[in-house]
Amino acid sequence: MRIKEIKPYVLTSKLDEPFYFSQWQYDTRKICLVKITLEDGTYGWGEGYGPADVIKAGIEYFTPFIIGRSALEHETIWQEMYLRSLDFGRSGIFQAAVSAIDVALWDLKGKILNQPVSVLLGGVKNPEIHPYATGLYFERVDDLEKKLVDEALEYKKEGFKAIKMKVGLGIELDTQYVKAVRNAIGDDIKLMIDANHAYSYKEALELALKVEKYSISWFEEPVSPEDYDGYKKLRLRTSIPIAGGECEYLKHGFKRLFDNDSVDIAQPDICATGGLTEAKRIASLAQIYSKDVVPHTWGTWIAISAAVHFVANLDKNPGRMYSDKPVMELDRTENPLRDEVVRHSIVIKNGVLTVPKTPGLGVDINEEALLKYSCDNVKHFIK
Ligand SMILES: [Mg+2]
Repeated sequence: MRIKEIKPYVLTSKLDEPFYFSQWQYDTRKICLVKITLEDGTYGWGEGYGPADVIKAGIEYFTPFIIGRSALEHETIWQEMYLRSLDFGRSGIFQAAVSAIDVALWDLKGKILNQPVSVLLGGVKNPEIHPYATGLYFERVDDLEKKLVDEALEYKKEGFKAIKMKVGLGIELDTQYVKAVRNAIGDDIKLMIDANHAYSYKEALELALKVEKYSISWFEEPVSPEDYDGYKKLRLRTSIPIAGGECEYLKHGFKRLFDNDSVDIAQPDICATGGLTEAKRIASLAQIYSKDVVPHTWGTWIAISAAVHFVANLDKNPGRMYSDKPVMELDRTENPLRDEVVRHSIVIKNGVLTVPKTPGLGVDINEEALLKYSCDNVKHFIK
């Protein structure tokens, strides 16, 4: 059970079709994965969300304090990493390194005990989940509205029951595109909007009031993550539920969000906010404040699988005999790292995701693809 090696990998891939959102454009994908290997050769995989090279440095910083520890003592290791980073990085990228290691330890724990992570988290309370399609990013095309509508119809055809689209191009354009997408997909598909904190409170309110009539299930990151009061004021002025939290770290960050009554839906990213260990604590905290939890998920099938097991274990809040299936994010944008590097055991059929019963996270790595995209081998387009 002793940890012998911790090896971070930074992978990158150039995209065929660059896309953008309210803040900047993506023309490459870059991620940091970590493999933790035990003395007997058993290994687990984790992933960090955020600037990959910095996460790799964080993992390397923690490594000497973890080598030789028992992989089953993930909370003890988590505490060690927390205390080792508390003075310098109790929020931000250091916690993504903590998260990557923590997720790998959960994967390992599952393999050691021959149980899926969802069972080890306490049990599968939600065996089926409704993944929602994250897409509808912007591209530099002649007819962006047509591109968005066509993409939304494709998700509907694939069976998705919910779709999240980007906003943040300005109130008029956003309203036009939201209207076009809602009219195209009809009323039986949930539609969410995500501004990636593009707006001031007043702008976000104007947009919210204009699109309320299109039955928006939530408005994500309407204002700056620093603007806790703006979040709260917006919540009180619109009927659209307000979501946020992908920029918050640890339970302490979420307490700040909840104390300010800033959101209806908390969106911790398991691979940034402190791993599965801390995400479970955040879910308990959210329950105390009567907030919903829908994790932010980006990256490869390692991150997605971690979210699946986490959502499978989430309490129904409140409980009742008949409740909707919980939702979780499924990024549908182009990502060769997600699709080629990581094998997974998740099945999605007719818009319903079945929680896998394979040990650990239920993932493995295609070593050939790992080497192909490793930054050690791909130098020519790395910025
Ligand atoms: Mg978002």
